[in-house]
Amino acid sequence: MPNRKKVVLAEPRSFCAGVRRAISIIELALERHGPPVYVRKEIVHNHHVVRTLRERGAVFVDSESEVPEGAVCVFSAHGVAPEVRDNARARRLDVIDATCPLVSKVHQEAVRFARGGRTLLLIGHAEHEEVEGTFGHAPDRTIVVEDVAGAERLDLPADTPVAYLTQTTLSVDETRDIIAVLERRFTDLLGPGTDDICYASQNRQDAVKAIVPRSDLVLVVGSRNSSNSIRMVEVARRLGTPAHLVPDAGELDPAWLEGVGTVGLSAGASAPEELVRGVLVVLAEHGYAHTELERVAEEDIVFTPPARLTRPAPAP
Ligand code: SF4
Repeated sequence: MPNRKKVVLAEPRSFCAGVRRAISIIELALERHGPPVYVRKEIVHNHHVVRTLRERGAVFVDSESEVPEGAVCVFSAHGVAPEVRDNARARRLDVIDATCPLVSKVHQEAVRFARGGRTLLLIGHAEHEEVEGTFGHAPDRTIVVEDVAGAERLDLPADTPVAYLTQTTLSVDETRDIIAVLERRFTDLLGPGTDDICYASQNRQDAVKAIVPRSDLVLVVGSRNSSNSIRMVEVARRLGTPAHLVPDAGELDPAWLEGVGTVGLSAGASAPEELVRGVLVVLAEHGYAHTELERVAEEDIVFTPPARLTRPAPAP
């Protein structure tokens, strides 16, 4: 029989500084300009956040081309390619940029390496919006590398001047393996230092690693299109512990709890703490009322919204 039922709550979890900033940009834009405020793509990859903002007057579109000329248009936290900015300018959109500053940093690195004549090896998932945005900063010079096999398959001479960059929300361990292949294969390889995986992804993965030895099951609150949440589930599974993504409390399958003593619980960087509380309520109903905390880092990073939204509004 398992020991007393309990929950080990990982910390840090839930919102990172980039997500907080992106959400507050839409809230401030709605206050300042009134609805509708158009948002290109999901502001962050969480359906609950998107639904809440939609109810307050945000209109989510797939492309800047769908936004009426001259309207306010927010770019999502995942960043955009320069051609999106050009198209928005041509349509005279009033753009407010919610790109996370840590993603903008990767964009600057891409431009710097490409100007230096290097071929960019962008480690990440080709379909992800962040990768599309970074790719767009040097489309003629960039190759997306999705995994170790992709790094092995690269058809480039060993002495090609190359540089690697990474998506910010990747698995720390998998990325290390991919970089190791690139280091072995290329003699003239530059990189951003270690990688571009952001502090929030790193901390959330470290916290999952810390709860795994204490857990029979790990649950990660996050939407199915949230890259960093999926990586957290993978981290737990790779360490041999069953793990599931839980978009919200309604999707927690009680069958998962069979024979489980300790549930490890965390949440991706785009998942609101409110959803974690909902999962805790359901777990308590199944006898997991006792909660312990496992903290691996303190996070005090704050990214402020653009000044145009925080300075006093001009007199009418
Ligand atoms: S997960 Fe990292 S890169 Fe993405 S918004 Fe948060 S801090 Fe920025």
